[in-house]
Amino acid sequence: MGPPGAGKGTQAKGIAEAYQIPAVSTGDIFRAISKADAATASELALQVKEIMTSGGYVSDEITNQIVAERLGQADAAEGFLLDGYPRTAGQVEALDAMLAANGQRLDGVISLEADQDELVARLLKRAEVEGRADDNEETIRKRQQVYAEQTADLLRIYSDRGLLVAVDGLGEIDEVSDRITDALDTHLNRE
Ligand code: ADP
Repeated sequence: MGPPGAGKGTQAKGIAEAYQIPAVSTGDIFRAISKADAATASELALQVKEIMTSGGYVSDEITNQIVAERLGQADAAEGFLLDGYPRTAGQVEALDAMLAANGQRLDGVISLEADQDELVARLLKRAEVEGRADDNEETIRKRQQVYAEQTADLLRIYSDRGLLVAVDGLGEIDEVSDRITDALDTHLNRE
């Protein structure tokens, strides 16, 4: 977990490789859905695209269903890393139910921390490099606001459960990756 621009997607790929588990990124899944070409674009694709461009959250109903389906696939049976999910209280609840139904549990929740100004700078830079439609200043501000309103408080839930692993997200990608694996290994050995 972490605010937009904290580096979740980048770090998720590294962690997935290190622990030999699939990274399940709701942002990537929604980007793929929204990119369906105009001729075949479904109602869902159009809806997701509009929401992402505005910086809001896709509904819990759609998001939870997509994650449940993804976690039901064979490659996730032995473990997985969630990137960008859960982001709302409703998603936390739905995830708890999914995991219980599958006889699984979370080993840890990584909180990637970074300061606001650095995040805006990173996202604007990414806009130049990747051309993501939601990386313009207006949408970035909206995404930060939505994160603060709906997601930031969820960290406390996981902290109360003893699952939170807080990591400083500032610095080189490899530095942050090392910090994450060190913190995670310490956390896992404590369990
Ligand atoms: P970032 O965290 O940098 O904004 P993501 O790629 O994780 O980037 O997410 C991009 C967008 O995808 C979000 O702004 C939101 O519209 C949508 N999205 C991703 N994950 C979720 C989620 N769990 N619930 C609702 N919407 C989501």
